[in-house]
Amino acid sequence: MSMNPKNERIKSDKYKRDGAKYVCVKCKGKHFDKEAAEKCHDSHPADGSKPG
Ligand SMILES: [Zn+2]
Repeated sequence: MSMNPKNERIKSDKYKRDGAKYVCVKCKGKHFDKEAAEKCHDSHPADGSKPG
């Protein structure tokens, strides 16, 4: 097993790493803390029902 920085896997799907920031996958909002990004993601309504 070799650790590859390019193959860095994200544990949480609530946010994405953007350099040193955490981007909410819902609103694409950038946060400095992953907790803030997770809270931001949690604040959005769950997308499960599709219109129509
Ligand atoms: Zn958000």
